Amino acid sequence: MTTWIVTTSNQIAGPLAVADQLGSSVTIVGVGMDSLPAADRVLTIPLPGPLPAEAAAPAVCAAVDAQPGDAVLIPDRAAERALAGALAARLSAPVLTGVVAVADGLFEIDRFGGIARERVRTDRPAVLVLPGGAEVPCEQAAEPLDEPAGLFAARVTAETSDAAAGADLASAKRIVAVGRGFRAEADLGLARDLAASLDAELACSRPVAEGVGWMPKENYVGVSGQSVRPDLYVAVGISGQLQHMAGAREARTIVAVNNDEHAPIFAHADYGVVGDLYEVLPALVAALS
Ligand SMILES: Cc1cc2nc3c(=O)[nH]c(=O)nc-3n(C[C@H](O)[C@H](O)[C@H](O)COP(=O)(O)OP(=O)(O)OC[C@H]3O[C@@H](n4cnc5c(N)ncnc54)[C@H](O)[C@@H]3O)c2cc1C
Repeated sequence: MTTWIVTTSNQIAGPLAVADQLGSSVTIVGVGMDSLPAADRVLTIPLPGPLPAEAAAPAVCAAVDAQPGDAVLIPDRAAERALAGALAARLSAPVLTGVVAVADGLFEIDRFGGIARERVRTDRPAVLVLPGGAEVPCEQAAEPLDEPAGLFAARVTAETSDAAAGADLASAKRIVAVGRGFRAEADLGLARDLAASLDAELACSRPVAEGVGWMPKENYVGVSGQSVRPDLYVAVGISGQLQHMAGAREARTIVAVNNDEHAPIFAHADYGVVGDLYEVLPALVAALS
């Protein structure tokens, strides 16, 4: 049996830990990577120029020769999620997200933001999407594929850079997350100041990204966003709905700032400040400086 890991970066501590639990031989397929973390086998699919990794989907599908009983582990990032879909279609395999335990071919999955668990067995290969986690040193030169299959005929027509994007939430040790308690986009500066004082990354709830578009979609936490596991998660002006907390509850310490003492976030928080964020954040920054 083989555990496959398909990745575009070396942030794969999460999949490697699951591969360890599964105990089978590990093959890592890196897209656009020359060297990779050590494994029984490491393969590389070269990516010419600025092509996005998604264009390598045909080559990835040709490289991953998964058999029934094999697991294909995919870090939960945008490009890899697209590759997961392509692989699942190619292998006629289910895509499983929210897997919290794996044993004897049985996958235990969080449902409804963690209020229920389902056990799934499959007689086909399974594609698992899970948090990528921290970086792992690249120690092994990758083996180029003998006959790499083609790439999609994609053409890059424009490139833009988003200064706010690229927050490394999956491996962040500290996160300040902002919610709809902020009245205006410019006010997020208060949270940025706090994040700078704490050496933290900035994240948000879904409405802040999907609704008003104040932050990139990659930065929202929750059941349909990112799952994070920082040591410290400071939720500011976030009500703490189930769908948000599903992505944040693995944080070691949760601190909430909210002006509603009945906000559900306080049921999840280790420490809470009932107060107006417009007063509390400057006071916290001053205390930390
Ligand atoms: C299928 C589905 C999937 C979803 N997935 C996600 C997901 O992945 N992630 C996610 O985040 N949400 C998700 N949601 C949305 C989720 O249900 C909540 O609506 C959302 O999390 C609420 O965001 P919020 O806490 O920022 O806003 P609100 O719920 O509006 O909360 C704002 C909070 O700010 C507080 N506040 C207001 N003013 C101040 C002030 N001056 N000082 C301090 N506090 C203040 C209020 O008391 C309130 O508690 C999903 C919903 C559905 C239906």
